[in-house]
Amino acid sequence: MSKSAAISFEYFPAKTDAGREKLLNVTTPELQAIGPEFFSVTYGAGGSTRDNTRGIVEGLNAQGLSVAPHLSFGLDDEATIGALLEDYKAAGINRLVALRGDLPSGAGGGARLVYANELVAFIRERTGDHFHIEVAAYPEIHPQAESYESDVRYLKGKFDAGADSAITQYFYNVEAYFYFLDRCAALGIDKPIYAGIMPITNYANLARFSRNCGAEIPRWISKRLEGFADDQESIRAFGIDVVTQLCQTLLESGAPGIHFYTMNQTQPTLQICRNLGL
Ligand code: FAD
Repeated sequence: MSKSAAISFEYFPAKTDAGREKLLNVTTPELQAIGPEFFSVTYGAGGSTRDNTRGIVEGLNAQGLSVAPHLSFGLDDEATIGALLEDYKAAGINRLVALRGDLPSGAGGGARLVYANELVAFIRERTGDHFHIEVAAYPEIHPQAESYESDVRYLKGKFDAGADSAITQYFYNVEAYFYFLDRCAALGIDKPIYAGIMPITNYANLARFSRNCGAEIPRWISKRLEGFADDQESIRAFGIDVVTQLCQTLLESGAPGIHFYTMNQTQPTLQICRNLGL
């Protein structure tokens, strides 16, 4: 297993004071024990969580942790995003996850989102080399992509615009990830593409989410999860087993690192990391 594999943890911005307090003062110290490279904090469609995202980012930054806010233009203008970049830079944040994002519901059909490669170029133009920029990658291909090839080409465009590394959408098909890395390498991408991993806790939510984002739950996994019905204990135990195996294979086969979509929960991410000896 690669000893130098980078581990990172993703949060979504808790909405309530109690949620924020728990995330910063309970969840974070527990996950920090693993020694992650950074924590990242998502950004709601169209900038809908701008203040909440910033609040969690500032809270983590105040603890001296490395934190990467996610960022997308949404429907904001250059002045708004430029000001946010300056604020993050002044606060000592030096990492970002740059995304196109999706339209918030009810935004209307005429709205055009700014593609992630354009955001990366904007960040480089405004702030030079200050930020380490992560972008999103899709081993099972983005749901709106014209084709497999075009999606990999657009990922290359994000690197050409100045991205430093990528984090994948979650997947359970390990072959899809390594095939994707090969296709990226064939196009000349030589930067790390970290595996995004979603622990399994709730089957109904995971199934709904996966349909929307184009991630496939292999049939044997969904059949097994369906069979557990409401038996949460069995779902958790099976999920930890399957995801530990997946991570083990990834690390043994040379994945540069793993980014956990923690869903703001310590368990089962912590258990999986312990199983991996991290
Ligand atoms: P892009 O890379 O811009 O690609 C979007 C689509 O357009 C793809 O189909 C691509 O093939 C195509 N495309 C790309 N560039 C061009 C171009 N220049 N011209 C024409 N077509 C192009 N969503 C959130 O709302 N908030 C978050 O915080 C968030 N965090 C995420 C973190 C990770 C690691 C990942 C994998 C996803 C995250 N998402 C988040 C989801 C993401 O916003 C959606 O998947 C979104 O639909 C695409 O964003 P993107 O940055 O990948 O877009």
